[in-house]
Amino acid sequence: MHKLTRAVTGTAALFAIAVAAPAGAQEEAPRWSIAIHGGAGTIRREDMTAERDAAYRAALKAALDAGAKVLAEGGSALDAIEAAILLMEDDPKFNAGRGAVYTWEGEHELDASIMDGRDRDAGAVAGVTGIRHPILLARKVMTDSPHVMLAGEGAEQFAAEQGIETMPPEWFDTEARREALERMKADKLSALDVDIKFGTVGAVALDRDGNLAAGTSTGGMTGKRWGRIGDAPIIGAGTYADNRACAVSATGWGEFFIRLGVAKDICTRLTFRSQIRGGAPFDEGVELTDAESQQEIDAVIADVGQLGGDGGVIVLTPEGHALYAMNTAGMYRGRATSTGESEVAIYADEE
Ligand code: ASP
Repeated sequence: MHKLTRAVTGTAALFAIAVAAPAGAQEEAPRWSIAIHGGAGTIRREDMTAERDAAYRAALKAALDAGAKVLAEGGSALDAIEAAILLMEDDPKFNAGRGAVYTWEGEHELDASIMDGRDRDAGAVAGVTGIRHPILLARKVMTDSPHVMLAGEGAEQFAAEQGIETMPPEWFDTEARREALERMKADKLSALDVDIKFGTVGAVALDRDGNLAAGTSTGGMTGKRWGRIGDAPIIGAGTYADNRACAVSATGWGEFFIRLGVAKDICTRLTFRSQIRGGAPFDEGVELTDAESQQEIDAVIADVGQLGGDGGVIVLTPEGHALYAMNTAGMYRGRATSTGESEVAIYADEE
């Protein structure tokens, strides 16, 4: 069977870049690359204090640096995204692990998923309680179970068998999230009215071996009930990684991301576009320019918007270019590469 390969080296690639990309449009390909997000939503400058803005930037930078360190030392994309997500799961500023939003019943039900772009192996957990690091449990599902997704009590039983760390309910409690639930109940609001941001966390990485990985972790949406599960643990909706296409982690109004299969849709569009540019034979994709990739990603987020949904994605191409798209006022995010790039951003209009 043919493996679709990107002609990123050799004359084919040089030709493709020379004819298709305006001079200087594509930078030198990084040996490793990572991008993270800490949720998208109504994050406006006018609602932020300087302290809060700085605290989020510092937290994003810490997570980004943790992932970048793994990659710089030759570690795998999977280990890098895990390192970044672990920090954000422990940080109450984000809606994942500690700091997760409350369910209608005042509990925390956590969702997470992880995907390995090498072989598209994947693991996910949905609606688990008491797990300090849902991303570690998702990874265990991938590596130590014959399944892709485990939910609720069964997932917790599996976690216990695997020696995954648990925490008492108070560990996950935060005042701001509790107030959000109370406000929602008192004023009969929706999760969108009370959450000025979503706060899910995610990461995508490319390692020196050319492998992509993606992971996402969340507490879901405030006031969720009836065992509601969002897009974050759903492979193809909130998370996707395929070495031949891209790595994606999403954040936003999960129902829309599930309905559109956002993460997989982005990867499929990038694959098709790269194959069309490559011409026949169809199994030879070429490197897309960032502008071309961005068009495809924007089209998917526009589709989310057309249905009435909102949110954003971080996307990493097989060449290590990190791209963002969102239809919200902001998305906590950051990216770093082996070529020295390292930046964090919050508002949609920031580069
Ligand atoms: N996508 C998540 C969900 O719907 C929420 C978020 O991104 O914060 O569960």
